[in-house]
Amino acid sequence: APAETPQIVIDAHGLPYLNPKLPVRKRVADLLSRMSLEEKAGQMTQAERDGLVPGDIASYGLGSLLSGGGSTPTPNTPEAWARMIDGFQLRARATRFQIPLIYGVDAVHGHNNLYGATVMPHNIGLGATRDPGLAERTGAVTAAEVRATGIPWDFAPCLCVSRDERWGRSYESFGEDPALVESMETVIQGLQGRADGSDLGRDDKVLATAKHYVGDGGTAYGSSTTGTYTIDQGVTTVTRQQLEDIHLAPFETAVRRGIGTVMPSFSSLDITGDGKGPVRMTARGDMINGELKNRMGFDGFVISDWNAVDQLPGDYANQVRTAVDAGVDMMMVPSTYRKFSTTLVDEAKAGRVGAARLDDAVSRILTEKFRLGLFEHPYADTGGAAAIGSPAHRAVARRAAAESQVLLKNSGGLLPLRKSEKVYVAGSDADDIGNQTGGWTLTWQGASGNTVPGTTILQGMREAGANVTYSKDASAPTGGYDVGVVVVGETPYAEGVGDVGNGHSLSLSAADRAAVDKVCGAMKCVVLIVSGRPQLIGDRLGEIDSLVASWLPGTEGEGVADVLYGDRPFTGQLPVTWPKSESQLPINVGDASYDPQFPYGWGLTTGTAVPHGGPGALKSLAARAAAAERRGDARQGRQLVTRARLLVQQKAGERMTAALAKPFADADHLLLAGHYGKAVQKLTEAYRAA
Ligand code: BGC
Repeated sequence: APAETPQIVIDAHGLPYLNPKLPVRKRVADLLSRMSLEEKAGQMTQAERDGLVPGDIASYGLGSLLSGGGSTPTPNTPEAWARMIDGFQLRARATRFQIPLIYGVDAVHGHNNLYGATVMPHNIGLGATRDPGLAERTGAVTAAEVRATGIPWDFAPCLCVSRDERWGRSYESFGEDPALVESMETVIQGLQGRADGSDLGRDDKVLATAKHYVGDGGTAYGSSTTGTYTIDQGVTTVTRQQLEDIHLAPFETAVRRGIGTVMPSFSSLDITGDGKGPVRMTARGDMINGELKNRMGFDGFVISDWNAVDQLPGDYANQVRTAVDAGVDMMMVPSTYRKFSTTLVDEAKAGRVGAARLDDAVSRILTEKFRLGLFEHPYADTGGAAAIGSPAHRAVARRAAAESQVLLKNSGGLLPLRKSEKVYVAGSDADDIGNQTGGWTLTWQGASGNTVPGTTILQGMREAGANVTYSKDASAPTGGYDVGVVVVGETPYAEGVGDVGNGHSLSLSAADRAAVDKVCGAMKCVVLIVSGRPQLIGDRLGEIDSLVASWLPGTEGEGVADVLYGDRPFTGQLPVTWPKSESQLPINVGDASYDPQFPYGWGLTTGTAVPHGGPGALKSLAARAAAAERRGDARQGRQLVTRARLLVQQKAGERMTAALAKPFADADHLLLAGHYGKAVQKLTEAYRAA
């Protein structure tokens, strides 16, 4: 903290709101009663640090600042972040009520804007782990690293239920099934601590954001006017029932878990039969005021998405009124913050925005600032900075990377590899930490190459003590290798780029295809796909012995090596359906004509866990699972279902038929809903079909 400023301000003016002993509710009411209209409008305004005139912090009484993806200080160190934010905070503290700023960033897979941070697998990989405890630990590591740089607010997690993999933000989703997304929301406790908000004042917790409310992952293919593929801000067309079951459900869970803020989606929502047509979420009072605040009882505040107010119909005053009336409490207006706050003041003065609405918005914002302890501790507490990128934190990311690996095919039990085997490693993503971490890493879009500290998959394999030779382009893959490992997939992207025009599609690049053909044509081969979403394998599946979906595993390539070499078993399960062809898209579990390459929930295992038995064993598993369900023993229930699943997969091998896929996927759905007995019954159907 700046030397001239006391770290703890106690009752500076003797005013009640500065008294930490009073309940937050009273402090908020006291402060609110003293504030001018301009000060209230300022609290509702969030500017971006790149577009900011620093003097405006005090003159507009700004409530919040953000760093958008990749908006980082120079040098990009923990100390520089803390100094930068403390400097802004000092200006906020020079206002008449000393209301601290709340600074926010997108730490969507670790503190990904900070060089040297621990970078977790993207959400799609966490969904594959099916491990809520692990998701919570990744959240805790993220929170500790973020708060140690002076940042109390994280625009994560994304609770999108990704229904169409052509969407450029698919990898920000935990998966296609709302029950899976809900099960991963333990990450909120990792970030924020207890649901009542009582941990938010800790130096290792942050306020979290459930985004993007609601239906971002349901935007329809073809709604884009700019390309063939779904853009990220399209229209979600659903029935009322689908809206509730698929898209609203994860937000209800987030509210129960005490989520501090919610961000409305850029996308529009079109509820079939309601006669409204597509309406942008930022304007949907029925969803923000109605569903979220009134029905679900959300008591945090709503932050708009980036310049979302400018996307609404009408002139600027109309846009501002529409968003505020719909229930948006704080507007992310990166460089137009002056215009926003003065317009809001004018509209309020003219009586076109109600005083009660403003008071509600400001109360919500102040409540979170008090809960975070920002009035008492406005400046960075960098005590936790030593843990940033530490071995303990990286161990969590490594574990997450390992558990996120999904073994799709394993002919002849080629995996796990033995360390004595001579391995030929090739492919564009074998030794590229930038590709491995994906978008939202140091920069908004992310980048290929040697961008952040960590280990690549190749380095991880070498560190495992393996006998490895590497050639990126798979030149000369002969010479007595036991096995080839080809690592291919996507290059980084973020938002808006699901489209072919930007060079991204669900097909492997020509170079990647050539590398697979070359290596798999010459020796037994394992193919790892490093990507944010399924990639179409098509006829190549026949020439590949073992196939692994690696997702975007983050900075710890050692985690991938752990499962390749059997130091940990493969346990991941598909968080989304893996299609056979582009023409099947969108494809989701529960579709009438569900005929995927690999169904939702698919995932082979290695290690010793594969049980023996036939229909008889399944019958007894079903009875025991039902009993576990009645006892409320989730752990036992899940284990029994997993054993049943492994029996089915063992019998099915590679013969993945449509008849098998449906009950198999249904079983995973039932499992997530806690219906263990029924899940095993479904798997018994799958067993018969296999
Ligand atoms: C994204 C949000 C993000 C915000 C701030 C927007 O473009 O849609 O997910 O939180 O930027 O960086």
